[in-house]
Amino acid sequence: TYETSTPVSSQNQPNLRIPGPVPLPDDVLAIAGSQMINHRGSGYADMLDRMTKNLKTVFMTKNDVYFITSSGTGAMETAVVNTISPGDKVLSIIIGAFGERFAEIAEAYGAETTRISFDLGEAADLDKVRKTLKGMNGVKAVIFTHNESSTGVSNPLADLCEVIHEETDALILVDAVSSAGGVPIAVDAWGIDVVATASQKSWISPPGISMVTFSEKAWKAHATSTTPKYYLDIEQYEDHLKIGQP
Ligand SMILES: *Cc1c(COP(=O)(O)O)cnc(C)c1O
Repeated sequence: TYETSTPVSSQNQPNLRIPGPVPLPDDVLAIAGSQMINHRGSGYADMLDRMTKNLKTVFMTKNDVYFITSSGTGAMETAVVNTISPGDKVLSIIIGAFGERFAEIAEAYGAETTRISFDLGEAADLDKVRKTLKGMNGVKAVIFTHNESSTGVSNPLADLCEVIHEETDALILVDAVSSAGGVPIAVDAWGIDVVATASQKSWISPPGISMVTFSEKAWKAHATSTTPKYYLDIEQYEDHLKIGQP
């Protein structure tokens, strides 16, 4: 189990009705307004340890999980730069604007990106995804949005993962920016390699922090990835997690 916040109570303006940022509960607001702590001190290390354990519980995973100082788009970019090399074949399943953004990130880093797009308002069709995968050779990664915030439609995540596993040994990179924390995601059971999410959506926190899960298979891809990276290199986050520092 993990700790949850008290419900939103006496909120002032504005009455936000967007996927995020969302109105914050009073106890979250109080903590956000508290004094700074030493980010190289033991208090920070304890907090990071607690948060990391809680995050694994939510994601139902034994995989590594990391907090990144970026918005959700940075977490999507983290998924790409750490696992994909220029020239790798990527299948991008698109059901709206955020799916297109994920494809653009893969392209920006030189992936040979194939798009399979579905009508706005629809989820991905499993048979069409299966057929596309059958027609592709050597797919390195399949990337897609879990909940497409621009249309309000969620992809059938567990079923999609099953199809991908049946047809390929591709990495599965999921943009769960608006779903994770609000909808169950069984990272280990469904075999997802990287899940990207961000604090201001279902996690009911201020924006600016994103979170990623990172599987053993993703680490293997990292070891051979030739994509230049520095700030979003997951190895830096692993090194700093070990010493309890950001
Ligand atoms: C909000 C959102 C993003 C972008 O996150 P930012 O924190 O704005 O960078 C990406 N994907 C989905 C599905 C989102 O809802």
